[in-house]
Order: sequence, then C-alpha cells, then structure tokens
Amino acid sequence: MSAGWGTSGKQPALPEQAAGPSTSEEPKHPAQPAGDWGQAFHYDYTETDVDRQWGGNGAVYEWQGEEGDLAPEDPILEAQLFGEPDMRFGAGLDISKIYSINVSQEGEKRIAPIFKFEAAGLHPVMLKNVQMCGYDTPTPIQKYCIPAINMGYDLIAIAQTGSGKTAAYLIPILNQLMGKAKKLAAYRPTPQQLITGEKRPVRAEPLVLVICPTRELAIQIFNEARKFCYRTMLRPCVVYGGAPISDQIKQIGGGCDLLIATPGRLVDLMARGHLLTLRRLRYMVVDEADEMLDTDWQQEFAEIFSGGDHEEDNVQYMLFSATFPAAVRRLARDHLASNHLRVRVGRIGSTHENIKQDIVYVKPELKRGALLDLLYSIEPGRTIIFVNNKRAADEIDDFIYNKGGLPCTSMHSDRTQREREDAMRAFRAGKAPLLVTTGVSARGIDVRNVKHVINFDLPTMDHGGIQEYTHRIGRTGRIGHTGTATSFYTDRDMPLAEDLTKILMETKQTVPDFLQEYIPEGADPSNFKIEDDNSEDEDEAAGGEDPWGVGDSKPAGGDDAGVTDEGGWGTGASAGEASGTAGDGWGTGASAGETSGAAGGGWGAGSAIPSQW
Ligand code: AMP
Repeated sequence: MSAGWGTSGKQPALPEQAAGPSTSEEPKHPAQPAGDWGQAFHYDYTETDVDRQWGGNGAVYEWQGEEGDLAPEDPILEAQLFGEPDMRFGAGLDISKIYSINVSQEGEKRIAPIFKFEAAGLHPVMLKNVQMCGYDTPTPIQKYCIPAINMGYDLIAIAQTGSGKTAAYLIPILNQLMGKAKKLAAYRPTPQQLITGEKRPVRAEPLVLVICPTRELAIQIFNEARKFCYRTMLRPCVVYGGAPISDQIKQIGGGCDLLIATPGRLVDLMARGHLLTLRRLRYMVVDEADEMLDTDWQQEFAEIFSGGDHEEDNVQYMLFSATFPAAVRRLARDHLASNHLRVRVGRIGSTHENIKQDIVYVKPELKRGALLDLLYSIEPGRTIIFVNNKRAADEIDDFIYNKGGLPCTSMHSDRTQREREDAMRAFRAGKAPLLVTTGVSARGIDVRNVKHVINFDLPTMDHGGIQEYTHRIGRTGRIGHTGTATSFYTDRDMPLAEDLTKILMETKQTVPDFLQEYIPEGADPSNFKIEDDNSEDEDEAAGGEDPWGVGDSKPAGGDDAGVTDEGGWGTGASAGEASGTAGDGWGTGASAGETSGAAGGGWGAGSAIPSQW
C-alpha cells in the first residue's frame, strides 16, 4: 500500500504508514487499479423487469409420480444444480485445514464419527448427489452430526457457517426420509396435473422445517437442498419476507416436504391453515439459533414452537448455532429431549488460520482514501466491504462507483428484497465483484471464492464485537480456499482492541505495533489459545451440575427415528475414535483430523445404521 492513512497517536504506526500525513489531507491513490475489475455499472432502481427470477423459484426436481424408488436423471437440471461435470466445485480443493479442527461432544451416547460418506448408510441417489456437489470427505461437523441425527437424537451443534453445517443436517434428514417418503409425505398432484388444471394445488404439509434468520441464508439453504433432493421424492420450498407471497404460495401448493423459512413469513403462512400445516412435521432445524434469538424474532419464534399443529414428541429437534448464549440454552431446555446430544466444532476464530488478517490504523477522515488505495492495489477478486450502518453502505457504494469507477453493489435491510437478491446475484456471478454491506445483512452468506473481506468499519461492541468480526472475516477463506481480511482500525475501535489482539494471536497473525500493548501479560505468542467462555454461567436458570441448563422435556427420537441403539453404538467402545470423556463437559476434544484405523470409521461390529437399500 502506498499512501499513509495517519498515525495512531498512541503507538508508532506500521512502517509503511508512518510516512503518511497525519492531517486530514487525502492521500494520493494509484492512478489505476492493479488489475481488471470489469465494467462499473449502475443499478436501475426504476426497472420493473417482472421476468427476473426470485431465489425461491429456483428449479427443483419434480417427481412425476410414476417412477419406482429411483427417479430418472434430468441432465439439464443436473447441470443447473451441480454445474457441468468437469466444472463441479470441490475437485482438487485443499480442504486439509478444516480437518484439523477440534470436535468435542457431550451426551449420554457417544457418537462414533463417520470418516467417509460411503460409510454413512446413504441411499445411492443421495451418495451420488453428495459426490456431484464435489464433497469428497465429510467435514468435522458432518462426521459427528450425520451419525447423531441418524441415531434419532435431538442435537445441539455449535458450529459456524463455513463448517459445512447445512449439509451436516440436510444429508442425514433427507436420507432418512427418502426410504419413507411414500409413506410419510402428503399427497401431491404431479406438475402436469397442476398445469392442465386437472388437480388443484394442495396444502403444504412439510416433514422438515428449517428456520433461519435471514432471507439470504434461507435462499442459500434452499439452493443446497435443491441439490440433495435431486432425484428424490422430496420437494423443497423456501418462504421468506420481501418476495411476493403469491409466488411462494404457488410453490408450496405444488407439494412441500422440506420447508425453509424465515420466521415472519412462516408465521404468516401458518396463520392460513388452508395453505400450510405442520401436522406431519418430523424434523425441525433452527439454523443460526443465536442470531435468531438475538433479533426481533422472539414472538414469531414462540408462535412457531408452540403454535404449530405439530406433535412435539414426534419431532426431532436440531439447533445449529455459532455461539451458545443463555437464550439458546433456554430454547434447548424447553424443547429438546433431555438426552439430546451436543457437538461443538472448534472455537470460533480458530477456523480462521487460512485467512490472512491485516489490521491497519487509519484516521477516520482518511478511510475512504485508504479504501480506494487498497482496492486499487489488490488483485481483483470478489471482495466484501463491511460498514456499520445503512447510510454508510449507500455512501461507500456511491463512492467506489463514482470516484473509483469500479463495479460495485450494496446491500442492507432497507433495500427491497428484489434489490437484495439482485445485489447478491450480481456479486455471486462476478458482475459486481465488490459488495458493500452491513454485517447483519451478510450474516451466514456463503459465496465461493470471496478473496478479500474489508472491514471499512470494525464492528462495535454493541453490535457483536469480536464475534461479529470473526463472522465477517469468515466470508473469505471458505472451505478449501485462502483469503485476506483487511480491517481499518481507528481510535474509536479501542474497546475491541483486546479481543482483536487475542484473535490475531490465536490465529497466528502479526499483531501490529499499535495493538502490542493489548497482548496479555506473559502470553506465549507461539501457542496462544483464547479461553473458551460460552458464558454458560450467565444462565441464571441453569443448575450448576448441568452447564447446558437443559431440563427434562421429552424422550429422544420419534418412532421414526430410524436407527436403534442396538448393534455397536453402545458406550462408544466400538467407535473408531473416542471423543472426549463422558461427563467432562465438552470432553477433551478429540480431533476430527485423526483418522480411524478402520475403513468406514468405526461403525462398530453390528453396523448401527441398517442398510435399508
Ligand atoms: P456451510 O457451513 O453449510 O455454509 O457450508 C460452507 C461451504 O462448504 C458450502 O459452500 C458447502 O457447499 C461446502 N461444503 C459443505 N460440505 C463440504 C464437504 N464435505 N466438502 C467440501 N465442501 C463442503
């Protein structure tokens, strides 16, 4: 970086910044970007192009009703879902980093991890779908969650986006339902019957409900579900606010076995009993549970849990959450079976060693110049720029477009859903490789090949603090990739300094001079670990004996839990890998990187997963 952006005033600045002006005078930028970012374009807010697709209208495999258990291939849809065979994602990726993440488990049953998808008792169609996704080996969370869900236990999984958690629940749930869909799923007309008017749309009676906090995440989960449902009888749908409800009603009216929803739109549809009922529900997943309970969804959430016509005892519950605050623990206590299993993958932050983190001291008034300077000096590639409020998102988008001449788009919660989807589409497709966004809107977003994350504003302590920081930088360096995260640090960010320094140390990054004073006394920089505080003690209601604070609510598993405990699960003796010790809280944290001696990963003598196929 060429220009200086001011000095910290307290500490000597980084060498390359020290020469910079300490006045508010803007530094000079390189005249040209270092590479080709593509053509800047202007979003036309008056455009009313009705043909544009909504995320929720993405093509799904349509079961024609006549086939046997194995539905025929559909090459056109297959290419749409998975890409052309030689272009499929995953091939040749280095995913070794993610496999060294620690996994710990707790619960009355030891989970014997699976080490290969081939050992997970998957239906051949599901296995093929997994392979077409380009997934060679299960990620740590998948190694544990797939068998845990297969065993029929309720589950809490502490893992963040980027760990492969969506597939960790979708694969086992859909796989279990595949053999039973004919028996369990509601009647639905064939697409042909609907088109000809021979049959009317039906009421949606999903077997699986996935609730998540943001629209973008809902669409993303739906896109993943479309792949795993390919050639199965299971029809996925997604409903979320902001997009036309009429389209969504039409979609669910064609049959809906897996419903992905944001809470507001779900409650709206639940209130119209002729359109949606949860009476067949067998699985409920709450994704990003911490985020959901932290926002304004409380009332909707209570309605979904208590107001649906589902039978609690027949439903297997799964909570996925990046952190485990008191509100999530209360939810678990109220709704999960007392013998539920818990899996925790790594520590937030510890997954980020493949992200190079630069913290750069900048005077607030020089931030814009610094941003342009940075954008002009890096190699072009998908870049997300985080700001802390909606106005800043608009302004920085304008600035990059007008002053920098770079193709940029932006997203925040005041934008219409159409604008948000357009922005995401342009960003994903690379038409606008620069996305300016507020943290909230970007929660959970998974876009491949994000090369760079820029914290134009670092998150404040009131808005997520260091947790938000790790979420944000986790948008780059996704499975199999490396990335760079550059954060502009100003004197106003001092409250974050201590946590930030610790994260830098834990992930073996350089601590800049102006943060040196926050290095904990006596800390060993070569082996620094942040002490884990999932604030279990914050839960006033939790008993001292039970750090999870969960009570007795219902027995595990419904009658369709699928897998019995017989045959090899036992006390964990059959597991190819022991994970922790019973009764030791999170256990000792066996590394999922350890490979089992036995091929197939320790299913035990009597293979616990019956092979139905
Ligand atoms: P998630 O944590 O669910 O947002 O997943 C993060 C990314 O990892 C997504 O792009 C997935 O497609 C990808 N992914 C999930 N499981 C695997 C796997 N076993 N191997 C490679 N990539 C995966």
